[in-house]
Amino acid sequence: MSDIIPYGRQTIDQDDVDAVMSALKSDYLTTGPRINQFEDSLKAYLNVPHSVAVSSGTAALHTAMFSAGILPGDEVIVSDMTFVASANAVIYMGGKPVLADIDEKTLLINPAEIEKRITEKTRAVVVVDYGGQTCDYDAILSVVRKYNLKLIVDACHSLGAEYKSKKAGYFGDVTAFSFHPVKPITTGEGGAVVMHDESLFRKARQFRNHGIDTDHRERQSKGIWYYEMSELGYNYRMTDLQAALGISQLRKLDGFIATRNRIAKIYDEYFLSHEILEPLHNRGDGRHGYHLYVVKFKDPYGETERQNLFGYLREKGIYTNVHYIPVHFHPYYSKNFGYKRGDFPAAERCYSKILSLPVFPSMSEQEVNTVVEAVDQFLRRL
Ligand SMILES: *Cc1c(COP(=O)(O)O)cnc(C)c1O
Repeated sequence: MSDIIPYGRQTIDQDDVDAVMSALKSDYLTTGPRINQFEDSLKAYLNVPHSVAVSSGTAALHTAMFSAGILPGDEVIVSDMTFVASANAVIYMGGKPVLADIDEKTLLINPAEIEKRITEKTRAVVVVDYGGQTCDYDAILSVVRKYNLKLIVDACHSLGAEYKSKKAGYFGDVTAFSFHPVKPITTGEGGAVVMHDESLFRKARQFRNHGIDTDHRERQSKGIWYYEMSELGYNYRMTDLQAALGISQLRKLDGFIATRNRIAKIYDEYFLSHEILEPLHNRGDGRHGYHLYVVKFKDPYGETERQNLFGYLREKGIYTNVHYIPVHFHPYYSKNFGYKRGDFPAAERCYSKILSLPVFPSMSEQEVNTVVEAVDQFLRRL
């Protein structure tokens, strides 16, 4: 790459290239044996009994909603501090996303705010393991169990992260992952859902393939041509080229996470005691995935300084990002659900003060120091 430091990027080695090449030369480009192999690797890694690979994280979230049985008119509580896809997936099912505010120290959904928004129509909660730190699942599970709700976990940031020695993916009724290039591992585009319950697994499998009960390869191996479509599904299939990449990437995930943690530690040394910027709080009760390293301006600093820091770093070839614009700020959500400024004060305050600094497994220590020095230069002028 050039001397630009992006906020995130994929790490692809020769063995990833070889894995994709051998899939490309095989008999199956899609719905082949590598899909099952990738799903088996994910199950073993996450210690869950079922997994379904799909074409994106968004497809995974949509599949999760379908499996969880979200129907038109159902309300689903969703964190306001997330990528829009987490909430959009509810709308795909005809459900109503009910946004909930976050904890300002972690940017994770606030369990007390979930409880406030529960009505007779609430069926499920979507929590997001923001930045690669898992939610406090003891607290989340005590709310969803009390009201008998389904827990859908958007773990697009947290593949490989752990809560009290169990992997993200273990706690939800259905958990969705993304394998977009900036995520913990990549398949180009891609995603997966995992679950404990076999009936939810069957629904997810069917949903991925138009709602048809068998796939092409199963029919071929059984020597039958007849099939039935009994639910409305989509073509959310992953290709074998992607699955091949996923298998080889997953082997490196623990190394990727270790590197991300080393980078975070260097950042922490500078930011933990800074008087202007602070990192998000790491609860320290598990393994942080550090998909993002987010810093937040302390009072009285905020939007102006954040914008200026973004611009200052950008000029130096350091690309940062803001994760996220609160969902309720998007025109689609105000237009269709009546959300307005002021509805979620914690998310709004955080939004004006946060910046995601570069962190990715191939980032060198020198690059980390370049970022720290550039931030330091900027802050000294304030
Ligand atoms: C990336 C991401 C998604 C969407 O995943 P895609 O693979 O891009 O469709 C959804 N939710 C969160 C929190 C994400 O970071």
